[in-house]
Amino acid sequence: MGEVRLQKFLARAGVASRRHAEELIAAGRVTVNGDVADELGVKVDPDADAVAVDGAPVAPPREAVTLMLHKPAGYVTTMDDPQGRPTVAGLVPAGELPGLYPVGRLDADTTGLLLFTTDGELGHALMHPRRHVPKTYVALVEGTPDEGDLDQLRRGVRLSDGLTLPARAHVARGEEAAWAAAAVGDGAGASGRARRHGGRRSREALAGGGSYVVVELRQGRKRQVRRMLEAVGHPVIALHRQALGPLDLGGLPRGEWRELTCEEVRALR
Ligand code: URA
Repeated sequence: MGEVRLQKFLARAGVASRRHAEELIAAGRVTVNGDVADELGVKVDPDADAVAVDGAPVAPPREAVTLMLHKPAGYVTTMDDPQGRPTVAGLVPAGELPGLYPVGRLDADTTGLLLFTTDGELGHALMHPRRHVPKTYVALVEGTPDEGDLDQLRRGVRLSDGLTLPARAHVARGEEAAWAAAAVGDGAGASGRARRHGGRRSREALAGGGSYVVVELRQGRKRQVRRMLEAVGHPVIALHRQALGPLDLGGLPRGEWRELTCEEVRALR
């Protein structure tokens, strides 16, 4: 990695964002080889220098790895669940990649694209609220939203935690609806065959007047898509995230992961 500025070292190691790392340094909380380093110009050699924050050694950042997982339903987005529920950690090579963590979260019952990285700086940057990274979801909902409902989603919906930012939203029809059915599948237990046919739950919902809605958000509040669709009168039956910023899940099978290419990581920065 060569010599890097101390704040960059701390950010890459996932200790804090670069800005917070600068504050830690300025506050005299960081030492290099036992000496307090409270100036921002200090450079360190990750292979040779011993860095500590508040006396706790910081493991040097390794070459960063960023990967996407096609998350199945039924897994909690955390690396460690005190209640012992199945977590996404069991689906990625967490043991071989210390410091790997999920960027953002999907509800346990949501499927789709979940990003993981060992690059603390990239993770912090993507999660920054002002960054407004677009995220595309496909929802199987009760009923079929009309233009008035869709316009509410587009303009912003008033939820208990305030007005949402404008979103894009449309009802998938024709070939797009067939694609949406395959993407959303049948929730937790979908076999390949069930997914190809859109799943039993999906078929039942559609027979009862359900539809697929594609929503693009630039915000990530808790259960936001579910709450927005519920607020306009179309509760979500199943939810799937297909894309995040420049990344699309493509044909990655459910439950599998792949490392991002250098170009994909560059496009995320
Ligand atoms: N919005 C939701 O409601 N749930 C998710 O998992 C992601 C976005």
